[in-house]
Amino acid sequence: MTSTPAPAGANPLLSDWSGPFGLPPFAAIVPDQFRAAFDRALAANKAETAAIAGNPQPPDFLNTVEALERSGKALDRVSSLFFVLAGADTGDAIEAIEREVSPLLARHANEFYLNGPLFARIDALYRRRDALGLNAEQMRVLERYHTRFVRAGAGLAKEAQDRLAAINERLATLGTQFGQNVLADEKSYALILEEGDLAGLPDFARDAARAAAAERGHPGKYAITLARSSIESFLQFSARRDLREKAFQAWLSRGESGGATDNRAIVAEMVKLRAERAALLGYKTFADYRLDDQMAKTPQAARGLLDEVWGRARARAGRERDELQQMVAQEGGNFALAAHDWRYYAEKLRKARYDLDEAEIKPYFALDNMIAAAFETAQRLFGLTFTPAQVPLYHPDARAWEVKDANGKHVGLFIGDYFARTSKHSGAWMTSLRDQEKLAGDVRPVILNVCNFSKPAAGEPALLSFEDARTLFHEFGHGLHGLLSNVTYPMLAGTAVSSDFVELPSQLYEHWLETPEILSKYARHYKTGAPMPKALLDKILATRTFNQGFATVEYTACALVDLDIHSLPEPDALDVTAFERKSLARIHMPAEIAMRHRIPHFQHLFSGGGYAAGYYSYMWSEVLDADAFAAFKEAGDHFDPATAKKLREFIYSAGNLRDPAEAYKAFRGRLPTVDALLRKRGLDDAAA
Ligand SMILES: [Zn+2]
Repeated sequence: MTSTPAPAGANPLLSDWSGPFGLPPFAAIVPDQFRAAFDRALAANKAETAAIAGNPQPPDFLNTVEALERSGKALDRVSSLFFVLAGADTGDAIEAIEREVSPLLARHANEFYLNGPLFARIDALYRRRDALGLNAEQMRVLERYHTRFVRAGAGLAKEAQDRLAAINERLATLGTQFGQNVLADEKSYALILEEGDLAGLPDFARDAARAAAAERGHPGKYAITLARSSIESFLQFSARRDLREKAFQAWLSRGESGGATDNRAIVAEMVKLRAERAALLGYKTFADYRLDDQMAKTPQAARGLLDEVWGRARARAGRERDELQQMVAQEGGNFALAAHDWRYYAEKLRKARYDLDEAEIKPYFALDNMIAAAFETAQRLFGLTFTPAQVPLYHPDARAWEVKDANGKHVGLFIGDYFARTSKHSGAWMTSLRDQEKLAGDVRPVILNVCNFSKPAAGEPALLSFEDARTLFHEFGHGLHGLLSNVTYPMLAGTAVSSDFVELPSQLYEHWLETPEILSKYARHYKTGAPMPKALLDKILATRTFNQGFATVEYTACALVDLDIHSLPEPDALDVTAFERKSLARIHMPAEIAMRHRIPHFQHLFSGGGYAAGYYSYMWSEVLDADAFAAFKEAGDHFDPATAKKLREFIYSAGNLRDPAEAYKAFRGRLPTVDALLRKRGLDDAAA
């Protein structure tokens, strides 16, 4: 038998996507094609940029800024598809290409931002921007280009630029390695248990552990993995202190194994390189550089907010610890509460105080009901409808819905990929295969939500914890930021806003999950369809501030350590473990609480680096989201149409059209205050 060679140029990655809704031809794609596709797309984009930079005509908005906005389409297509797969359905082949391609992409971006003739054109336009007759959006695009070029070093001498380029490439390589090391540590670890080791575990956790063990080649046994939903339920429910400690240590030690996947040397090098880059660009520290282009503007402003919360949170966590310690004593335990005990005793206390049992709650949070709840919220606020779309996707667990507006007009495609698997990175995120814009016609977005909920056994429905349901709403809020985007220029679309603003649409959306309108309708028992009993519902809502000292400390410590490590002016030969210890000692971190993400596996900071010196932004955004939701409360209607209209206009559909502070003021009529946040977390009591 002979095989027919593929016809030349048949790489499906290089042609326009012609699947339903303009989706890529997933079934025809094999990982090997990516390398060639990247090479071709990079070359094409280089040629486009060279033509714009070398245009003999004097620069104008059309032949420079708008031309840039129209360029790079092939590269956008290949990269967005590749990184969707690299996050949600990766494997050895994709990982190998990712390691090869990341530095190429970084080099490409460098060459772009350090292109002297190109910057000269942008700079010339920027200097006479008021005379160009631009509309507000065009002005914003020009300003953003100028800022980006300057922040990338476009105004520097050649020698400094070369050094910046080398730093960026090296950082890209290190960031990829960091993420892959964490994934490797998570993949390689499983605590294999026997039936007799499961004391305390409710059915859903047993089922998930059984499925995880089968997937790892241990049929009939039980596996606790380092996926958040697996390890967290184990820590919450397992009555076996010895096993909790073992699993918790493995969880904490990700990236710190001492072996080939140890991330500490990578972190030390990344922190040093970031500091050097900031210095080259004229900033005192990386944090100063990073925050200059954020809503917060300075590390002092970010730290000011965190400090305001930290003292109250720590005091409250101290009172929570005393209560848990009392519980240990009541049970006859003769040990000081440790970090691996906190979740277990907190769950017990929650049960005792509110008679609330996570296992009793989960049957009311079936995944499909929560998806429907997120959809109805979008329908009531923004008039959107969601219809299942039978389209081929990259994995059988991923599902798609067509999104339409109140007039039946196509808005975009939404893809939900909810279950954990070994080919998926941990965590939950929103991403896209295509972003909205109007420059190349009415381009409609294709938006994804990727989560890591435990996959149920065959035939069983997926049941979520309340936290999982909150994650679903959170990511869906990001999804709406992409779906509702209504801008002309691609660089301003959807979530392309500063990272201390980007969590506003997602964290704000979580509030609707907790409204009685949504909970009473969608929190229904998966077997009987009965609504959640009112008493249980009331208790869930009453527990919102329970254990918030712990949660706030766990998070805020991370945000403070992040600012600390990125505020080192000359971080030479950094001992990462010692630094973390010192940084935590400085803020008097309670011994019974661990950082939510320790530095060696802190992917927000080091896998890529989107949140480096930016982890504070979740709380910054929480100030915004608490204050923003208060607007609906003040209106006396959780779905108040007038407030929803402004929310859509200035936040969800506005992308990066405005400076974030201006956008917020346009929606709310004023800047936010921290009061609503402290109330929401229950940290506003006088005793704190
Ligand atoms: Zn988010």
